[in-house]
Amino acid sequence: MLKKIGIILIIFVCIITLFACKDDKTKPKGELTSSYDIRATLDVQNQAVYATTKVTLFNDTDSDLSSLAFYLYPNAHSDCRVDIGGVKCDGADLDFCLDGANLTVTLGTPLKSGESGIYIIGTRVGVPNGNDRFALTAEGVYNLHAFFPRLAYYDGGFVIVPYSDRGDPYLFDESDFTVTLEAPLDYIVAHSGVLLKEDLGESSKLTTIQIDGARDVAFSLSKDFKVSSGESGGVKIAYYGEGEQGQEYVDFISTCIVDLSELIGEYPYESFSVSESDFKHGGMEYSGYTLINKDVRDKKLVLLHELLHQWFGLKVGSNGYAEGWLDESLVSYLSYYYMDIYNNGGYAENIQSIKNSYDKFLSRVRAEIGDSYNPKINLSLSEFRNDEEYAYVVYDYGVLIYHGIAEVVGREKLIKGIKGYYQDMKGKVATESDLIKCLEKHGARKMGGIMRSYLEGKVVG
Ligand SMILES: [Zn+2]
Repeated sequence: MLKKIGIILIIFVCIITLFACKDDKTKPKGELTSSYDIRATLDVQNQAVYATTKVTLFNDTDSDLSSLAFYLYPNAHSDCRVDIGGVKCDGADLDFCLDGANLTVTLGTPLKSGESGIYIIGTRVGVPNGNDRFALTAEGVYNLHAFFPRLAYYDGGFVIVPYSDRGDPYLFDESDFTVTLEAPLDYIVAHSGVLLKEDLGESSKLTTIQIDGARDVAFSLSKDFKVSSGESGGVKIAYYGEGEQGQEYVDFISTCIVDLSELIGEYPYESFSVSESDFKHGGMEYSGYTLINKDVRDKKLVLLHELLHQWFGLKVGSNGYAEGWLDESLVSYLSYYYMDIYNNGGYAENIQSIKNSYDKFLSRVRAEIGDSYNPKINLSLSEFRNDEEYAYVVYDYGVLIYHGIAEVVGREKLIKGIKGYYQDMKGKVATESDLIKCLEKHGARKMGGIMRSYLEGKVVG
């Protein structure tokens, strides 16, 4: 009798398991996963990048897709000539429309839920002179970002983020990238990801890199880079600059990676490389890579800021246009927090100087436009009055928010909350409410209320 019941139970459990498995297998995760295989050539004679971008998509959402949305950022600038050779799928030409930074591809055959598709896009992008993310600098450095079409973030539909010259107006899913870049032999290539191989020809070389789970990739090329390298807990570090201090910066980054992995969570990529140029901003972060201004005043602080973006802004993604403060303010606060540990002090002086600088900014603008001026931080990039307001509010007031929270709940609880935010949100795109929820859950309940008061402008400075 017992045996019989046992057999019936086993059959019942099998049927249940069968149904459970079937359900798990067929239910879409709601994601549109993408991997890129890019073959690009830097043509220095014509100052252009040719690229063939093969994007493999797996539609793990419950809808069929009839079009795809990409960004081709150089086309947002009038001084940059962008040509699209064509878009193909299974040998057939697809219709496309390039409007500013937005490339829309119409699919002849929809990409059905549960199916994969391979799309090949040919592009030629002229590299403008300048000191931006995609430019040939006056000193001969090619900074190459966004020279290929990058799929827009998908969340039940493509989320199209407007381009802005202010801040970092980017929002991407994580993707896997393999990129082969052909460049003249005498150029040294700084890059995202790990080097898979380098093939030397008579006058040119092919550099193949790979990085998985990346928001974006970039390259910098110069004839004059000196390369310093190192390793930290299995993470490959490289510094490409013209100065003599490369090794000192590699050692600094190496220490930071160990300490920050302990403070926040394991460093999320296999490598971290830095390239210096006469770049117009202090720095710009990419997964496993950063551009940095060679003349920036406190280079270690900027390096630390960009390194912290590997955790917040990249591994934990965010909408850089709609919620630019989300990663920038947190990363700025953590830079001062960590510098205090690294230097054995200095935090109080740094916070005081940020307070003074923010107060001066407020007084100056209030004298201009009235005493009721009380800027908000959780605005989209285009909602800030100007670049100055964006910089002071996001980078100074943002630091003061976290400092203010730490004053009430203690630095330990704040860091616990931030660590929990990283653990819960890594690999995803976080929002303001995710941040507040995580700080409350992992740090202290009252942190959400304090954060909200700052965001609503009830606490000034
Ligand atoms: Zn930043």
